[in-house]
Amino acid sequence: MRVLFTGIQPTGLLHIGNYFGAIKNWVELQYDYRSYISIVDLHALTIRHDPKQMPEQVFDLAVGLYACGIDQEKTTLFIQSEVPGHADLTWIFNTLAPLGELERMTQFKDKSARNRKNVNVGLLDYPVLQASDILIYKGEIVPVGEDQVQHVEFTREIARYFNSRYGKTFPECQARLTHTPRITGLDGASKMSKSLGNYIGLMEKEDEIWKKLSVAKTDPARVRRTDPGNPEICNIYSYHKVVTPETELSDYIASGCRSAAIGCLDCKRRLLNNLMKVLDPIREEYGSLCGKREYVRELLDRNAEHCRAVARQTMLEIKEKMGLTAVWKI
Ligand code: SF4
Repeated sequence: MRVLFTGIQPTGLLHIGNYFGAIKNWVELQYDYRSYISIVDLHALTIRHDPKQMPEQVFDLAVGLYACGIDQEKTTLFIQSEVPGHADLTWIFNTLAPLGELERMTQFKDKSARNRKNVNVGLLDYPVLQASDILIYKGEIVPVGEDQVQHVEFTREIARYFNSRYGKTFPECQARLTHTPRITGLDGASKMSKSLGNYIGLMEKEDEIWKKLSVAKTDPARVRRTDPGNPEICNIYSYHKVVTPETELSDYIASGCRSAAIGCLDCKRRLLNNLMKVLDPIREEYGSLCGKREYVRELLDRNAEHCRAVARQTMLEIKEKMGLTAVWKI
């Protein structure tokens, strides 16, 4: 089986943008690839974080991922900082990574513009650590959103640089774009994100979700209940597309919106009902796993051990190729 690698930062909250835009796809792909999913706590250090909250955020994310359907038998879910090979390989790749290219990365420019007081080397080096995350397992498939394609391309380049200098070692991985369109936040303007406060949390209470949905933006041209709307420019409709069954979507929501047969509140209520059908089983599993902390810790320990063994093997191979072994031929 080909190796798939992906990572997710422990931000302390999973929202429907994470689920429909990424995790649901990972759950489907785990049946076709040997999957590695890393909780990338080292990447999370590039912005200010609270050390006291980090362990709980990591645990919560692990539980959330398992609750969403990540299967221990199919996927190796692990914590990045528990596998030293990621950081070791980063140093090696740092000696190959062109500085100018790192400075031109869109995410580096965006993040450093947003965090002017904390433009640290880690922000610049982020794509190199990401290349190490993938290549230490010789990953070939990397499911990503469009904003990460540039980093996957960079990983391919690093693999090429290494292979041409030291001999064929790493595959040139491919980005696998998710079919789900980017999930826009409730403001209808930016990507759904915790920091922008425009999200619907996976574990939020139903009445809290309704509070948010009931005031969320719709087609701005639909001012009165009797005005016909255009679902294709309505953010609420984009959420319907990921949770509402096809026939209900076309026969009731889209046509009802265009003919003004349904109002926006009815439409949002339907959305809530359909959304809860997806979220309820996830919450139930989440609740059950939260009560089994030791079991979850055991799974993560076992997975980290497996990852350390794979990483050790890759590091041995590349050290030998780079002349870093202490074995002298006599
Ligand atoms: Fe949007 Fe639904 Fe209102 Fe149409 S009826 S504008 S799809 S919320």
